[in-house]
Amino acid sequence: MQQVQDGQCGLCSHFGEQHPQDQQLIQIRTKHEAPENYVDQCGHPKHAELDLRVTPISGCSGFEAAPEMQAD
Ligand code: SF4
Repeated sequence: MQQVQDGQCGLCSHFGEQHPQDQQLIQIRTKHEAPENYVDQCGHPKHAELDLRVTPISGCSGFEAAPEMQAD
């Protein structure tokens, strides 16, 4: 597992935007940690048409914080 910091893709609303109910994605946002080899699509309008894929610890200036998710 790797830690995901504020401002990184794993906590961005565009990360995996194409499938927001994905359990693994929800886990990443809840725990702020992600598997080492996790990669997902970026749904940012400027990237989506390029089918950009990023890791949870990637980032860009298009970051928008996903809604806060609390652990149970
Ligand atoms: S590349 Fe930018 S817009 Fe896409 S998920 Fe990462 S921080 Fe968000």
